[in-house]
Amino acid sequence: MKPRSALAQALPRSGIREVMDLARQMDDVIVLVVGEPSFNTPPHIIDAAAKAAHEGTTKYTPNSGLPGIRAAVAERYTKKFGRPVTPSEVLVTAGAVNALAAIVAAIAEEGDEILIPDPGWPNYVSMIGLARTKAVGYPLDAGHGYQPDLAAMEALITPRTKAIVINNPSNPTGAVFSEAMVKALVELARKHDLWLISDEVYEDLIFAGEHVPAARFDAERVITVSGVSKSYAMTGWRIGWAITNPELVALCGKIQEALVSCPSAVSQAAAEAAVRGPQDAVEEMRLAYQRRRDLVQEILEPFGLLPTVPQGAFYALVDLRQAGIPSRDLSRMLLEEERVAAAPGSTFGDVAEGMVRISLATADDDLAEGCRRIVRFADRHGALPKAAEVAGARA
Ligand code: PMP
Repeated sequence: MKPRSALAQALPRSGIREVMDLARQMDDVIVLVVGEPSFNTPPHIIDAAAKAAHEGTTKYTPNSGLPGIRAAVAERYTKKFGRPVTPSEVLVTAGAVNALAAIVAAIAEEGDEILIPDPGWPNYVSMIGLARTKAVGYPLDAGHGYQPDLAAMEALITPRTKAIVINNPSNPTGAVFSEAMVKALVELARKHDLWLISDEVYEDLIFAGEHVPAARFDAERVITVSGVSKSYAMTGWRIGWAITNPELVALCGKIQEALVSCPSAVSQAAAEAAVRGPQDAVEEMRLAYQRRRDLVQEILEPFGLLPTVPQGAFYALVDLRQAGIPSRDLSRMLLEEERVAAAPGSTFGDVAEGMVRISLATADDDLAEGCRRIVRFADRHGALPKAAEVAGARA
């Protein structure tokens, strides 16, 4: 039997997976390609999960999650949004990816359009495609710190546009939006009567200042998506959430019945312990990523390879465009010639073509050595901007 779904067959294969598969066949590779925390889940969270399992939290739960985690998340965002958030506004899901996919399925119909960031997390394209909806990329320019260009975004809005997805802090750019930018994005959504899906999974990983949640400016049209994966090093537990109006939560609950029934019971208990418990580990991990960001900046910026210094999340886009080599070839060559595995920029959209994404979720020494090898590679392939240009860019 052959699989028949053209829709499924048309899904792009992840460029990240391609690099990982090649890297696995080689020795001594410095792996800068993974998009997950380099830490273990804090022990108090694991203990809480074990206790819950022993006490019987091992069964199906309601589609939208157990009352405990929904209440814990509601309390967390009551503080962050500066308005009361009720548990009925919280949808608990199998990771943020499941929250996003359920929401897309709930708000858009075949042929509708959803604006997504370019460069952006590739799963937006596939989940929107699976919902038979069209993903329309809005460009984020390296020369402008990968900040949205509101006029360019507005020009892409059509009568079929249903929603705008924003990702703050951003994977893969590391950009963080100011309060003014977040407000302006909410305004744009309001002006065109669109949903604003705000993917804030990296909300706790900010290197300076405060993360501004979009929901602070509009309780009705902003759908906040986040989870425990990044903040608490819990990617494998698969718990995320969306915060939106109770009607949409209930609709998504019906979709969840078809997709996953409910998120894992024991993982929900773990996530509740994460959200309610001590937050010291979050800060320790944030500081480690910040230290590594500084390291990467120190090595790459003097050569003009880091047009934008990441302000959050745990990634950096390295600009090798001067070499004139497509990203997929760049990644393969970097691996073969320098034994460094980095994600091809084109996986994240057209704007990052000619770039590679490195992850800061790597031990300091490996990261520094990987960056030095990237500089050597860039030099060999004519990707180092002329010294004068770099000095000019820094002035
Ligand atoms: N959004 C972005 C921007 C991400 O980078 C990721 C994970 N790489 C997710 C959402 C999904 O996170 P999870 O499903 O593990 O909660």
